[in-house]
Amino acid sequence: MAVVETECIVLRSYDLADADKIAILLTADHGIVRAVAKGAKRLKSKFGSGLEPLSRVRASYFKKETRELVDLDRTEVIESAFDLVSSPEILTRFSYLIDIMISLVPVEDPDPAMFRMLGACVETVRNRPETINSVSLYFEAWLLRLAGFFPSWDICSVCGLGIDDGLGAQVAADFQLICSRCRRSSGGDTLTENDRKTVARSRRQSPEAFSSEVVTEDSLTKLSSIFKRMIGRATGSDRVDRVLQAGVHVQR
Ligand SMILES: [Zn+2]
Repeated sequence: MAVVETECIVLRSYDLADADKIAILLTADHGIVRAVAKGAKRLKSKFGSGLEPLSRVRASYFKKETRELVDLDRTEVIESAFDLVSSPEILTRFSYLIDIMISLVPVEDPDPAMFRMLGACVETVRNRPETINSVSLYFEAWLLRLAGFFPSWDICSVCGLGIDDGLGAQVAADFQLICSRCRRSSGGDTLTENDRKTVARSRRQSPEAFSSEVVTEDSLTKLSSIFKRMIGRATGSDRVDRVLQAGVHVQR
């Protein structure tokens, strides 16, 4: 049995039988782990507020080779998310983002970039809650990239040439792009040069820098709807559509 001590972000926790809870943690260096927290439902549990979603905690757990679930030994809160989850809008949005992360990311697949990305998104929204819409878009783009579901948007899938500045592009059914020279039908979403610049910016900037620059409401809505469809296809569920409908009511 191995003892692991690592920093992590709590993704979700839910009640198990008796006094126990299950916590899903995104760890800094072991990917997503599912942990049993014995006695966590008791009033005076040793985990205290260390299982609240989006909290950054230092955790130690025991891992047996043969079991997927690990035994959580203790958690120590580094940064609580109490302020964040007390806003229903932000809670709803992050709960959707966490949901798609759990659906798309395999368990115990170490990905330090995923950990940094989530941490930076939480931090940005904590400092400036009004950035939630652009941070959501940023998160969706990165989740798709890191999970390997984002096609290359630099080249046209028909002629194979780079899509130069100034050209528009059409999003095909497989989410690849078709340049305006090759475009045959008028169906599907069309990306402007600006839409593509926004996506390119999300790839090289931090969420803080990304959300500091203006993204037009049009661009935000269009790109987010495309990403949600990509995520829906990748997870093979219609849950994203329902969340998308709920998200329409969330205002900036
Ligand atoms: Zn082309």
